[in-house]
Parts: sequence; C-alpha cells; structure tokens
Amino acid sequence: GKPVCECNMCYGGSDCSQLQPDCMVDADSGDPTFLEPFWVKNAASSAIVIAGWHRMSYEYSDGSLISEELKAHIRNVHASVGNAITDGKYIIFGAGATHLLNAAVHALSSKASSSPTKVVASTPYYPVYKEQTEFFNSEDYKFNGDTSMWNNDTSNSTFIELVTSPNNPDGHMKKAVLQGQFVKRIHDLAYYWPHFTPIVAPADEDLMIFTLSKLTGHAGSRFGWAIINDEAVYKRMLTYMDLSTYGVSRETQLRVMKLLKVVLSGNGREMYEFGHNTMKNRWSKLSKVLSQSKRFSTQKLKPQHCSFSQQIRTPSSAFAWLKCETSILEDRSCYEVLKEVNITGREGSLFGADNRYVRLSLVRSEDDFDLLLRQINKLVSVEINDK
Ligand code: PMP
Repeated sequence: GKPVCECNMCYGGSDCSQLQPDCMVDADSGDPTFLEPFWVKNAASSAIVIAGWHRMSYEYSDGSLISEELKAHIRNVHASVGNAITDGKYIIFGAGATHLLNAAVHALSSKASSSPTKVVASTPYYPVYKEQTEFFNSEDYKFNGDTSMWNNDTSNSTFIELVTSPNNPDGHMKKAVLQGQFVKRIHDLAYYWPHFTPIVAPADEDLMIFTLSKLTGHAGSRFGWAIINDEAVYKRMLTYMDLSTYGVSRETQLRVMKLLKVVLSGNGREMYEFGHNTMKNRWSKLSKVLSQSKRFSTQKLKPQHCSFSQQIRTPSSAFAWLKCETSILEDRSCYEVLKEVNITGREGSLFGADNRYVRLSLVRSEDDFDLLLRQINKLVSVEINDK
C-alpha cells in the first residue's frame, strides 16, 4: 500500500483523520492526482529500477535523442484510443507541453516578414500561452490577444492561433477561428482523452501537442510530445529541443515507456475506465449540488458519441468554469466570493474572461474534491435558507 507521509492541508492528527476547521480548499492547481489510485493499484508493474551504469550517454545508439521504442508506444496509445492520427507524421518529445508550446511557436513564426508573427487564442484561454510568449520576448513573435480582434483581418500578417480542445478552462471542443493563407495553428490536445471528453474522431491536424501530465497524471515527469505533418516545421522544433535542453531526460523516457506499457496492457482500457468513472462521479455530485442554486452555475457541455467507449458520453471536464450571478457579486469577483468560503480557485481574468468566472480544479485527489464539494454544499445551503 501507499505510505501516509503527510496529511492533506485540511486534515490533522496522527492518522490524518481530523478535519481542520477553516482550512483553505485548494481548487486552484490542475495537479492531476485523481489518477493516483490507479497507479497505486499497478505499483509493481509500473515501477522502474535504473542501475548506475545505465544510459549514461548523450545519445541513443542510433545517434538520436529520442527513444524509437517509446515513439512506437505513443503511436500505439493513440491508435488504441482513436484520438489522433500519427501515421506518416513526425513525433518529437519535450519537457511537458509547456516546452513544446514554445518550440512550436518558434518553429511556426515567420522570420521573413517585417512585423512579428501574431500569436493569438480565443478567450477564455490557458494563461501560459500569453505569459510564455511575453516572457520570451522574441523579435519574431508577439502575443496579440483574442482571436476575435483579428477575425476579418488576417491578410497583412502571419498568425499563429493556439486552439485548445477540450479547452482549459471550460472543456469546450474549440475549433480554429482564423482563416487565411498566413494563419498557422497549434492544436493543444492535452485533454483529448477519455477521462475528460468523448472521443468524437481521431484528430488529424498539422501540429498537435499532447502531454503525459493529463494522460497518466505524471505531471512531475515533465513529458509531452508533438505530432507534426510538415518536415520543415519538425526540423525547426528539433533544433529548438537540441539547443534548449538537448532532449528529454533519458530516465524520463524510460519511466514513460514503463507507464505506457501498463496503459496498453490487458484490453488497454482499464486506466481510461478508472479516469472516466472518477471524473463522471465528481461531475454528477457537483452538478447535483449546483442544480439547486440560482447564484452559481457551470459550463453546459453536450453529450456526444464516444468512439472509444461506444457510448454516448457527457464531457467530464478537468475544470468547472464556475459563473457567479451578478446579483451576489456586489463589487467582488467570483474568485473573492469563493475565497470567503475558503475555496481557492483561479480567477477568470487570468484566462482573458471577466470576474464573474472562476476556474475550479476537479482533477486533484479524492480528499481535495470532497472538501471542495463540502464547501460548495455549504454555499448553496445558505442560499436555500435565505429564500
Ligand atoms: N496545455 C494545457 C491546455 C494545459 O492545461 C497544460 C497543463 N495545465 C499544459 C498545456 C502544460 O502541460 P505540461 O505539464 O505538459 O507542461
């Protein structure tokens, strides 16, 4: 079993069973520990031991920085889920999607044009797109806000549109908005797995990014991959990886391979069933509580046929995109309203949305989720008693 080393912030006592009054519930970070019980159950088959002499070289025996065997396993994972086409495409690894996002922006930005390439996304969007692009402060590209500002005006400049589906924060299956010959796209498909959404069709975009963080939950291993159509783009991304880190740690690649072997073992469905059931249960509990409220609501996502499960499934998004009705805000943001009942979410404004919205993470541990639900229950009971 798993040793108990430390208690969740909201519990104390020698066996972590005492609920601490007035503790803060963390619904901010998207740490995907909801999958931990699956890996506890598969502890032995997913473990690796690395001898001191193993894999000391810079390169693999074929001179590359990427394990061909791991690449083959990634292709098999996509084929078994049916969420992306990899045939005839290039694959590259990075230290998480975070690393690959900038490599892709670098590779797609145009050096030829006189003005920097405009990097855009549709609100609400994952804040790192803006933060990272601004941080690197490149002469080749600049963050240029929401796609809606450029809708009919893509003829004079090169654009890179970041398309996130399912979207972080709201779980919608976003589609590219901008059209035109100078528009390039990065499809961030971090959440396109059966835990979070029905698999409607295999994605077949020019540049797609995935991450281990949301597939198996191993966010700390720092591993992601991009699937790329165009050879020139692939080579520019390879150069970026060579010069920034000289590839992903070989220990990480070894670990990822072991994890993916477990994912693919048996009928290759067990982890997804666990992930989907966990998320589905959390959403059904949350929706039940919020259905009694006129002050708080979440995004509505339509059920669709899932080719992986052969079922009609309602999306079970990684995040609740909670909206507070203006009547209860009284000069406060929705984030502040929740903070008053000891829930820390992530402010809507960070995603380019307004302050009526707050993002609540539903992918943390069962304890975190139970505590969150408990506080939301309290909030809604106050409302019912107010009537
Ligand atoms: N893209 C999206 C949409 C995400 O939500 C995240 C993680 N929260 C990432 C990329 C980054 O993931 P990684 O851990 O692989 O860097």
